Amino acid sequence: MLTANELVQLAHEQTATQRTQIDELMYVNQQRVIKAFNDNRVSARHFSPTNGYGYDDVGRDTLDKVFAQAMFCQDALVRPQIVNGSHAIYLALSGLAVPNSTVLSITGDPYDTLQTAIGLCGEATNTLNSNGVQFVSIPLMEDGGFDFNAITDKLDDKNISVVYLQRSRGYSWRLALSIAQIGQCLEIVKAKRPDVCVLVDNCYGEFTEQLEPTAVGADVIAGSLIKNPGGGIAPTGGYIAGKANYINKVADRLTVPGMGREVGSYAASYRPFYQGLFMAPHTTGQCLLTATLLARVFEIMGYESMPKSSDNRSDIIQAVKLNSPEGMKRMCKAIQQAAPVDSFVTPEAWDMPGYEDRVIMAAGAFVQGATTELSADGPIREPYIVYIQGGLTYEHGRCAAVEVARSLLAANDMDA
Ligand SMILES: *Cc1c(COP(=O)(O)O)cnc(C)c1O
Repeated sequence: MLTANELVQLAHEQTATQRTQIDELMYVNQQRVIKAFNDNRVSARHFSPTNGYGYDDVGRDTLDKVFAQAMFCQDALVRPQIVNGSHAIYLALSGLAVPNSTVLSITGDPYDTLQTAIGLCGEATNTLNSNGVQFVSIPLMEDGGFDFNAITDKLDDKNISVVYLQRSRGYSWRLALSIAQIGQCLEIVKAKRPDVCVLVDNCYGEFTEQLEPTAVGADVIAGSLIKNPGGGIAPTGGYIAGKANYINKVADRLTVPGMGREVGSYAASYRPFYQGLFMAPHTTGQCLLTATLLARVFEIMGYESMPKSSDNRSDIIQAVKLNSPEGMKRMCKAIQQAAPVDSFVTPEAWDMPGYEDRVIMAAGAFVQGATTELSADGPIREPYIVYIQGGLTYEHGRCAAVEVARSLLAANDMDA
């Protein structure tokens, strides 16, 4: 029988091919990002803090331009004032959905926090529904692909103003949608309804492939800066990027209609947002390396996990089925033990704001809740899946994989 160290060493050796592919991905994405910096002539003055209204804030405005170019977009809003990914996506939805129209999700139920924000569950006020916008969703097919027939039929509804899709798996047992799949679907959507705005929840997807949804037909993408595009360095924030006319609408919703993007200061430096974006192709690659290694560890140990170590990835998540709340707790504890911060605490499930089920979360991060740092979480519900993601360096991922293997080996011993 292998020890935890030997097991992880074996998994490392067996994933060499994937590492070569991820090296290439990091390189291609880095080239695009550095070109965006160069073309926009980024220099030290762009890092300066501002205060008050923030008129003519060249750091803010240039960051928007660099980010937009890096993400295949005309325009972007990259803001510390956007508090997280949920905020970015809700902001985009509420800025883009025409009053009394319908938003059509073509990837089933949206991410947990958005269900609350839309008004599908919970008791929040000022939800999308309470403001007269209907939300209708078409689930993905059994195989995780789009339901083209249902989508084409539903698009006959002229009341639809926004088509919404979620690239990453969120808290569901499916693969992330690849850029190729998204492109194929959006070709059909746009052929039938060129008038609708296609909005993509891009959380966890950025830089996991060589293209983003906005390169294959999406009009707007939104996400969090303490996930992939913050590179592990951005301290907070979110982004919305896409076609200029849509970004203008969202800007008027972000601040004040008429003031839009021209206001908003940041009294700390913009440097971490620039540096984070610069690092993001590399950091996201490190997350993919760690996820791939963990996938191989789970395969060797006989756990049901997704994606497979050999699958192409379009998000940074590695999901594993643990079949009991105790199993979830042990997994989160193992990840927590390997963390640089708060390694000594034991994660407990709690009622997180915006979530329906209790959620357990391992996060020993430098930036609170940053899931581009190695973390594990999941709502306590059947079949008790833990979603692991992040890892600023692959070396840290390997250390953590040893803790994970050790914990699973100990659990096997207890069952035996
Ligand atoms: C993380 C995430 C969100 C929400 O982002 P927060 O920053 O946690 O609010 C939305 N959608 C998906 C797919 C996510 O992974």
